[in-house]
Amino acid sequence: MAQTVTDRTYAPGQTVGVLITEALGRAGPGVLDYRAPEGGCGDGDLVEVPLGPRKILGVVWGPGEGTYDPAKLRAIARVLDARPMRAELRSFLTRAADYTLTPLPAMLRLATRAPGLMSGAATRRVYRLAGPVPNQLTDARFRVIEALRDYGGASVTLAELTEAAGCTASVVKGLVAKGVLAEEDAPKDTPYPPLNAHADGRLAGDQIAAGDALVAAVDRNDYSCTLLKGVTGSGKTEVYLEAVAECLRQRRQALVLLPEIALTADFLTRVQARFGARPAEWHSGVTMTERRRLWRMVATGGASFVVGARSALFLPFQDLGLIVVDEEHDTSYKQEEGVLYNARDMAVLRGAIVGCPVVLASATPSLESWANADAGKYLRLNLSARFGAAEMPQMHAIDMRAEALTNDRFISPSLAAAVTARVAKGEQSLLFLNRRGYAPITLCRACGHQVGCDDCDARMVEHRFLKRLVCHQCGATKPVPTTCPACKVEGKMAAVGPGVERLAEEVTARFPGARVAVLSSDLFGSARALKAQIETIAAGGADIIIGTQIVAKGHNFPLLTLVGVIDADLGLQGSDLRAAERTFQLMRQVAGRAGRAELRGTALLQTHQPDHPVIRAILGGDEEAFWKAEAAERQAAGVPPYGRMAGIILSGPDVAQVFDVGADLARRDAPLRRIGAQVFGPAPAPIARVRGRHRVRLLIKADKGTSLQAALTEWVAQVKLPANLRLAIDIDPQSF
Ligand code: ADP
Ligand code: ZN
Repeated sequence: MAQTVTDRTYAPGQTVGVLITEALGRAGPGVLDYRAPEGGCGDGDLVEVPLGPRKILGVVWGPGEGTYDPAKLRAIARVLDARPMRAELRSFLTRAADYTLTPLPAMLRLATRAPGLMSGAATRRVYRLAGPVPNQLTDARFRVIEALRDYGGASVTLAELTEAAGCTASVVKGLVAKGVLAEEDAPKDTPYPPLNAHADGRLAGDQIAAGDALVAAVDRNDYSCTLLKGVTGSGKTEVYLEAVAECLRQRRQALVLLPEIALTADFLTRVQARFGARPAEWHSGVTMTERRRLWRMVATGGASFVVGARSALFLPFQDLGLIVVDEEHDTSYKQEEGVLYNARDMAVLRGAIVGCPVVLASATPSLESWANADAGKYLRLNLSARFGAAEMPQMHAIDMRAEALTNDRFISPSLAAAVTARVAKGEQSLLFLNRRGYAPITLCRACGHQVGCDDCDARMVEHRFLKRLVCHQCGATKPVPTTCPACKVEGKMAAVGPGVERLAEEVTARFPGARVAVLSSDLFGSARALKAQIETIAAGGADIIIGTQIVAKGHNFPLLTLVGVIDADLGLQGSDLRAAERTFQLMRQVAGRAGRAELRGTALLQTHQPDHPVIRAILGGDEEAFWKAEAAERQAAGVPPYGRMAGIILSGPDVAQVFDVGADLARRDAPLRRIGAQVFGPAPAPIARVRGRHRVRLLIKADKGTSLQAALTEWVAQVKLPANLRLAIDIDPQSF
């Protein structure tokens, strides 16, 4: 694809447009005129510019408008970095902003999220453990030490440390004075170790053809998109690492996106083994110092292989030769706060703009990608068999209507027997329940009252581990009440339904002597602790693993031969049109954990509706049939991927006011009707109240190929929002 923007240079004093990282007003232009500094500047330079009394970060975006007298313009304060934001990245940001209807400055902020881009090295001081840790420590000091340990010996900035430990700067300084911590200049930004990108000739069977196809795509050095589909364990990672190796041999940069930080542990180990060094890592668990280094190295070519979370897509690559989106169906690729974007879709956009291949890998592709492959827009590569002796597990339903279960027990006799057999053989069992905490409902047996969050429309979930009720929406907590807050009767409050903590209790009681491990995101203070737990399990350090959806993904547990799904019906409730797709994907992913090595696995699904079409599709494993049926339903309903959708979320403190504004918008739908789009709502949003703000949603449905964004912009601009109301536009919402 042709690039529409090229890089120009500007002589000192010439007028240039600078995109700043702050919006002036909601629809502010973002690009302001400045004079080029002494020494000149060029498009894509990272610069510091004066704005009122402050200095802020910006990027030279092109020639200035020239509408002001150049003599009166302020000059760019300094060039921080010459041309890291190349034409390709600038057009990507522009197109992504247009697509998601995000103001450009907000988009630029995503791309400049490396901290300290503006500060000189001298002002960047970092901290590390230096001396012995005294036994007697104040709570705050102890938290600082813990935070540093979580970072595993890396240098951490003051801002990070105070944030992680929830303390003031003086606590940190106090520890420096005592010699427990050392304060020093941040290390110089150095390139990442080179990777040994030899071809290793390991691919076998249909991996060979798939590997060849991807290597050829890299060699063409042009945009293409490939859906790499294969059951868990079929070698998708192995195959795309071949493409990464080719990309590195061509001296271009490769980016692999993974949906969860927890996943990277396994991946890094494999890269280390395959390439002799680790790739550069980009996600929220990486220190600021390290992120800054990575940003610079990506911009200068000192980092050739980056593995990261979705925001890595906005890094200033100089010569991107391959983008891989692993587990492309994963919903965490959609950012649901701030800039609302789907990293999988944006990866395809960036690939198209740079002109490099994109690989979407999954065992259970999203319906979107499946449909694109079906329509011939994406190339499709299939890996049909699991590698080596491993086969897909046998899958069976356990009909819960026929199982004898006593109160407050959640493991059926059939499932319990299967677990017992595995424990006896020294094999591992995984019990999957996608519910964090102890119990989802705290109920008064006298009056039926359920304890909810004061600020959200959500039940509070009991967490025994924390000894509190927690709102999973906003994080608010309160003590577990002994007296009913509604009827004031004492001693009647009861925990209802299972969470993983409660399941652990049952397992411990019913399988005495078995070693139990619980994997739930909220039980681990840090990614590092979670990683350690996963490694322990992989090495055989547990007999029964209890987990939420963090275990559904690519971890390798070679001894695991049984997966028991506690409630396979959980995702099928509700009216979301994506529920079937989600449940299908999640169940297939979870089941795929069983039997990856020499041992054949079994997956048992506890369900009350064994004849439900989705449950039958999961058990039957005829994926093509499932996708075709799903596709037909979506097509009939005119929803994605066969139609376009957008959501408008209005939120504010006063529910009546939020609804009024929503109704007003719905009435003025002329700009939408003009493109044949329909408005639904206002209705309470899927999450109707968060942090005391009421949320109302309007859904817009349009045909494919309409210019939805332009119509939305015109439509929304008609109403002037009251100051306390917020409006967010969500293109391609996750639920509809
Ligand atoms: P997927 O990404 O599809 O889940 P992986 O690439 O992780 O599959 O492969 C599953 C397991 O099989 C891994 O442990 C991997 O190292 C191994 N494996 C796959 N293909 C090969 C191969 N050709 N040679 C050796 N080991 C392989
Ligand atoms: Zn809440």
